[in-house]
Amino acid sequence: MANKSMIKCANCGLFNTDTKICTNCNTLLNPREKELTLKKEAVKKAEIAKVIYDKENPNFAERLKQHPFFLYKIIGWILYSAFMTISIIGSGLAWFIAMIAAG
Ligand SMILES: [Zn+2]
Repeated sequence: MANKSMIKCANCGLFNTDTKICTNCNTLLNPREKELTLKKEAVKKAEIAKVIYDKENPNFAERLKQHPFFLYKIIGWILYSAFMTISIIGSGLAWFIAMIAAG
């Protein structure tokens, strides 16, 4: 039994025999390998997109505050004010402790 596999290249349409890569245009012929390559590329793209997104949007609360949807905007303001309150309390506490230590 001949175990030759004829695979048509999805890119250029050429029929290839017993090869993983198209002899004409170097496209991967094995659908599984092609899928894996596509998945890897997709993961890479998603990672890059995430890094860019994080760089462009450094602050979550600030980002939400500018969100067009009002509910997210409210959440953003709540987060922002909670963060502000905590930092005010924190600095107030630091001042209080410093005063006790000094007095
Ligand atoms: Zn080809």
